[in-house]
Amino acid sequence: MKRVLILLLLIMSTIVFSETLEKVTYRNGVYTAIFKEKRKINTSATFNQSQSILALDFQNVTVKNNIPETLKVNDQYVDTISITEVAGIATISFYLKKGTAYRLVSRNGEIQATFSREKDGSTGTQSVKLKPTQPTKKKKYTIVVDAGHGGKDSGATANGYREKDLALAISQKLANNLRKDFNVIMTRNTDVFIPLQTRAKIANDANADFFVSIHLNAGGSSANGAETFYFSKKESAYAAEVARFENSVDSGYADIPLSDFIINDIFYRINQQKSAAVATDVLDSIVSNFGLRRRGVFGANFAVLRGTNAPAILVEVGFITNYSDIDQYLSESGKERLASGIANAIRKHFN
Ligand SMILES: [Zn+2]
Repeated sequence: MKRVLILLLLIMSTIVFSETLEKVTYRNGVYTAIFKEKRKINTSATFNQSQSILALDFQNVTVKNNIPETLKVNDQYVDTISITEVAGIATISFYLKKGTAYRLVSRNGEIQATFSREKDGSTGTQSVKLKPTQPTKKKKYTIVVDAGHGGKDSGATANGYREKDLALAISQKLANNLRKDFNVIMTRNTDVFIPLQTRAKIANDANADFFVSIHLNAGGSSANGAETFYFSKKESAYAAEVARFENSVDSGYADIPLSDFIINDIFYRINQQKSAAVATDVLDSIVSNFGLRRRGVFGANFAVLRGTNAPAILVEVGFITNYSDIDQYLSESGKERLASGIANAIRKHFN
């Protein structure tokens, strides 16, 4: 009897506290989120000034299936709006244009964000229709897609291309593909600088199940091929060299001695096995799809992988310094094929 009571109480508490995000609208700089049960919701707002990202977190809120995960707005206030739901917390992230101010009002089961230009205070004239996506089945895993570099950090540049641009374009396609089966979070969706440790923190805060970082390699004119990496305390001289370049943007963080990191040995081993297995399949997909040289799967001390609690890999899809490597990735269809190969390799390990 007592057990039944406890069970009932548990069920009651879920009924009492869970809410549903029913509908969202955006028009002329006014975003409205409408909740079904009209209960008081535990909400917190954070604004990242340097990246102009406003994030609203709603505790114990389920997002209705037909609400699109990403809305490309691109008016004078907002670039993109994304909605994610992880472990009972729904997050609406507004990627704002620089100089956009916001005001939040909460009333009777609605949250309204009103945007204006900081300086002139003028109001917008454009409107955007929300296009619902197909209802999706419940997604079990959260995957973080990390486009390497960004903002002041261009990564490697060669042949008139910047690593940060190609990495972002490939990552966006990868994220879109993975969204069919997973909750997907991108560490960046625009050309912004994000410190390496913040990228890992984004994954850890979301309780991510997997982290994949997309990069392009640089080397001498004859260097070519693809390679993948997982985090390892031991590394070969070659792998250390690649890690040194990718870590260089954030040397303050990247150079912290390994001994200062509390790395749980059991998780370290489990993550390493899983990471290496996915890294192998991802590399095989690139090699077989594009005929690139198979440079190998390596363990290395990448700062961005080291800080992530989940299994994590870094993919060097080819050499930006070698035109025949990147030539195949320049078309939309090439990027699409690359992204779908990587996504399918990841799928094999998360189902
Ligand atoms: Zn890179």
